[in-house]
Amino acid sequence: MPASPDGPPQGALAERLARAIALGGPIPIAQYMAAANAHYYATRPAIGRAGDFVTAPEISQMFGELIGACLADCWDRAGRPRVHYVELGPGRGTLAVDALRSFERAGLALEVHFIETSGAMRAAQASRLPDAHWHDDLTTLPDDGALLIVANEFFDALAIQQVVRGSDGWHQRLVACQDTLFLPIAGKSVPDAILPEHLRDAPVGSIVESSPAAIEVVRALARRLTAHGGAAILIDYGYDGPAVGDTLQAVRGHGYANPFAAPGDVDLSAHVDFATLGAAATLAGARVTGPVPQRDFLGSLGLAARTAALALQSRDRAEQIGEAHVRLTSPDAMGTLFRVMALTSAGWPEPAGFQ
Ligand code: SAH
Repeated sequence: MPASPDGPPQGALAERLARAIALGGPIPIAQYMAAANAHYYATRPAIGRAGDFVTAPEISQMFGELIGACLADCWDRAGRPRVHYVELGPGRGTLAVDALRSFERAGLALEVHFIETSGAMRAAQASRLPDAHWHDDLTTLPDDGALLIVANEFFDALAIQQVVRGSDGWHQRLVACQDTLFLPIAGKSVPDAILPEHLRDAPVGSIVESSPAAIEVVRALARRLTAHGGAAILIDYGYDGPAVGDTLQAVRGHGYANPFAAPGDVDLSAHVDFATLGAAATLAGARVTGPVPQRDFLGSLGLAARTAALALQSRDRAEQIGEAHVRLTSPDAMGTLFRVMALTSAGWPEPAGFQ
């Protein structure tokens, strides 16, 4: 890397990545994204008004309550077996707190297990749910009960890899560093055969993404469900791929930012390929339901009635509650971009909300 009068990129992680690239050459997008997000979630509050982005459970308590009610109903119809609650990437723990209220109302008492890698996030979760159990991944989850699993905006944070079409075929996409700037470049060529046939002749410049990390997690979830029973609700924004498109994005201070500027100081995410994750879950033995738009899922679980009841209960907050309903369901907000997919084991009923 040539010396620059401006010095290396800002931030501790940016400096480390710049040094690694100077020594070893450009790195895969997936390595860049994983390092950036690990640093990002370890060093700041991230979620909520004071953070960089607001998620559905932070918009309204109704989101977690309805997901909790949906899972409690599924558990009831499964014959009320012993179950544990598992949440992947629980953020501030808000969804879990709201879902637990619904579980309690249904007479369901359970242990809470969080899959969370960030120490800062674990601390935030512990302040709300001190009795929860924390795990780095799915391998240490308990084996003595069925599982009620939730993941909201978790899969979008997992690393993706990208390939880009050049005039001479497809190339792995890498991140280089020049002076103080990170930038994506085309790396070594990859065989056409790694792409589905319908994408191989895409125009020069086309980008196709995949997320081995997300596929691995969904496989592990499906295997757990198959072995122990249960249901999982996965909510994220996404598409049915594989398809052409560059969806890597950065968010900072509630606005979009350049994903190649300030790694570790912005939230990096990518759209989730539901079709591929669904196929992986099916292969691993789970039954897949959906995905359906978030608006339809929440609507069929009774969001409108819950909104009206809540607004009656707290008249001073009625306007705010109505606005939350709009944000969760409007096509201009989260209503159709976000989608919901369920995984269930054999012997468990399909969750409500997907009709
Ligand atoms: N579900 C929450 C938070 C979404 S943000 C909400 O809806 O508000 C993503 C969450 O996943 C954060 O808690 C982050 O620390 C966690 N996370 C990101 N990458 C992870 C990984 N590889 N393993 C476990 N947790 C991860």
